[in-house]
Amino acid sequence: MLLPLIALAAALAAAPQRSDSLVIPAGDLMRLYTDCGEARWPYGTEERLVPKTTGEIDSGVVRRRGLEAAWRAYFAARAGDSIRPTDTTAWRYPLGVRGKLLDNFLNPRADGPHGALDIFVPREGEEIRSPVAGVVVAAGDGWRGGYERRGRGFYYEGDGLSRRAGNGAILYDPASGGYFLFSHLGVGVRVRAGDVIAAGTPIGRAGHTGNAALPGHGKHLHLAYKVPGTACGIPGVLVAVDPYRWIRGARDREYPVRRRRP
Ligand SMILES: [Zn+2]
Repeated sequence: MLLPLIALAAALAAAPQRSDSLVIPAGDLMRLYTDCGEARWPYGTEERLVPKTTGEIDSGVVRRRGLEAAWRAYFAARAGDSIRPTDTTAWRYPLGVRGKLLDNFLNPRADGPHGALDIFVPREGEEIRSPVAGVVVAAGDGWRGGYERRGRGFYYEGDGLSRRAGNGAILYDPASGGYFLFSHLGVGVRVRAGDVIAAGTPIGRAGHTGNAALPGHGKHLHLAYKVPGTACGIPGVLVAVDPYRWIRGARDREYPVRRRRP
């Protein structure tokens, strides 16, 4: 279920004294979501990570905790039989097909471990669904770009989540206090910041925006899961944890493989 933004606007109007509302600009949210290395957002087509200062990280943790309290209250006020917090053992599989789930969380990348799972889909356009109930805290649908072997190389414009993530969304999970990032979606992201959604709600469709537009990257969902932890010596910073066992569990519940009879 998607709640109309009118309800959100009413909630915001009722609390004009609060400095941070439920929905903040996507660039601000991305700075709170990233750990210690990305002070600037967006950073254009030239990918260059600028480390945050200790002060930026500290104040980011404080601001994020304030927002999380507001999101939890907002979610609780709207939860009911159709929308309830989702325990890890009840996560939903994020695809409408089984696809190919890789446990590539630790795979090395240029700037460190991958820190997420990739689920490859048989074809573009497969529906991406939310594993849990939660509050959508960022969504970006404006990424337009690609890769030209001759000519411009990698190019993009617009305001998806980021150059690397492309179109997608970030969901806050009140049950675990964690965050899901859905990256590389095609045009037509179906949620907006401020939506309260149930587990299994369609987020959008698999595409190849962001880094997935580069040669050799197949059609896939890049799914990251972050929870508050400690990074660069500062408690409270979001750190990636490997959600493989819970996502695999959801897949095997929803798409059991029939064993052949001997
Ligand atoms: Zn990935």
